[in-house]
Amino acid sequence: MTPSQLPLNERVTANPEQPVQASARYVLYWMTAQRRTRANFALERAVDWARHLGRPLLVLEALAVDYEHASDRLHRFVLDGMKDNAAACLRHGVRYLRYVEPRAGAGRGLVKALARHAAVVVTDDHPAHPLGDLAARLRPHLAVRLEQVDSCGLLPMRGTPKVFTTAYAFRRHLQHELPAHLASMPRDHPLRRLRSMPRAVVARSILTRWPELRADPSSDPTALLATLPIDHTVGAVAATRGGSREARARLTHFLAQGLEHYQDDRNHPGEECESGLSPYLHFGHVGSHEVFQAVVAREGWTPDDLDTVVRGKRAGWWGMAPEAEAFLDQVVTWRELAINTCVHLPETYASMASLPAWALRTLHTHALDPRPYTYAPEELEQGATHDAIWNAAQHQLRAQGTIHNYLRMLWGKKILEWSRSPDEALATMIHLNDKYALDGRDPNSYAGILWCLGRNDRAWGPERPIFGTVRYMSSDQARKKLKLGSYLTRFTAAGSKPVGNAR
Ligand SMILES: Cc1cc2nc3c(=O)[nH]c(=O)nc-3n(C[C@H](O)[C@H](O)[C@H](O)COP(=O)(O)OP(=O)(O)OC[C@H]3O[C@@H](n4cnc5c(N)ncnc54)[C@H](O)[C@@H]3O)c2cc1C
Repeated sequence: MTPSQLPLNERVTANPEQPVQASARYVLYWMTAQRRTRANFALERAVDWARHLGRPLLVLEALAVDYEHASDRLHRFVLDGMKDNAAACLRHGVRYLRYVEPRAGAGRGLVKALARHAAVVVTDDHPAHPLGDLAARLRPHLAVRLEQVDSCGLLPMRGTPKVFTTAYAFRRHLQHELPAHLASMPRDHPLRRLRSMPRAVVARSILTRWPELRADPSSDPTALLATLPIDHTVGAVAATRGGSREARARLTHFLAQGLEHYQDDRNHPGEECESGLSPYLHFGHVGSHEVFQAVVAREGWTPDDLDTVVRGKRAGWWGMAPEAEAFLDQVVTWRELAINTCVHLPETYASMASLPAWALRTLHTHALDPRPYTYAPEELEQGATHDAIWNAAQHQLRAQGTIHNYLRMLWGKKILEWSRSPDEALATMIHLNDKYALDGRDPNSYAGILWCLGRNDRAWGPERPIFGTVRYMSSDQARKKLKLGSYLTRFTAAGSKPVGNAR
């Protein structure tokens, strides 16, 4: 290690041949997947570099317009988060550059231009497309060291030895490996360590070519959204504002009011005891470490409470209250299983090829079975089938950018049942989820969707038409077993009439 380098660790990937430019203007943190200023390993790494080299920190947060499904909904959520990040950086005297691309391609070259004046470039590591590809695309164009830092989950994602195909096997792995990582939490307030540093100066030529967004923190971004070439038919969700402040408020509310009912009532849409954190986790407005630490604080937990025997069971390992363990099983085991699949199957995690052999076989065997109902993808998108529960779920997705978890499973299962083939069902699910869901385009999106087709599950009898031995779910059962409350009336859009060729 030369004096100008920081040691690597299991969360940091870098090309050691790219040099540190110790006397350059600033250290650049290009915030892409973890859009927050707290409990963020990548930001912390950039702060460490800034302190180590005595250079100021520049934080770049950019928003492109040409990614698939760019819409008012997704843009608004990110813009809300930018407002929080701008305020936090201002509070700590750190230069924050917010760039919103006005037209497709306009932002091209910005990171490269900023990197020309950087001692080191630090960015987020992410396992899925397109965020995961950004650093790889940039690296060949840089003459400076680029580091990618993983803040995705409690377990460093690149340290897993293989793809785990069941939650049970992954849970066993976690129970072996996690204890060693639980002491390595990110700093809650990394920016506080830069207090006495000067602010980074950005070259005027760069700011002229790529003008930054200098919005008044209290301003409403509606007017800005209207000027952008994005999908305006998918509107912002008024009830779900983005940003770290909102994420933290939701986490606090959930721990105070939702968590105690989580284990017993999570499946009931009328009970509303889920955390609602998935969009915030997706955009990195909150990280799983912060969520975990908040649960730890509620439980008064210490690592001494861990069961020393690895059993791979959902309950009992953490030594917390049952509802806290049930929640951690989702936000740690299932979420990080999805990340693990993306890391190890980078080309196929969103495709049929990621299904186990038994699921592919049984779906293939039943691919030509007659369908009692078929709906074209466009008909499904309107949420106007013969099935009131399904329609309500689809209307919730369109209106609120989410579906209650249990109904999300039913939503996917019915799309399989009503599509002309499993391939068409997969394409429809991905399209609708990625287009409308605030938490879409996430490792969890593809994990949840492919779970509907048999991934991370086992075969279930009896063998049925269309599904074969893939787990079946029925709306009638859901109606009988779920406390739906006002769910159906709330999300049954007035005037929707059944379409499709019901037979
Ligand atoms: C067809 C289908 C599509 C899905 N698409 C997405 C998606 O686009 N984005 C997304 O984040 N999740 C997706 N899921 C998983 C799950 O439905 C959501 O994570 C959950 O409903 C989010 O609500 P919440 O944050 O209130 O969850 P909570 O129950 O409060 O759970 C807390 C966190 O745990 C994680 N989690 C919960 N359930 C699961 C799960 N089954 N698998 C993996 N992680 C989980 C999420 O990060 C979630 O935010 C999908 C599931 C299905 C069946």
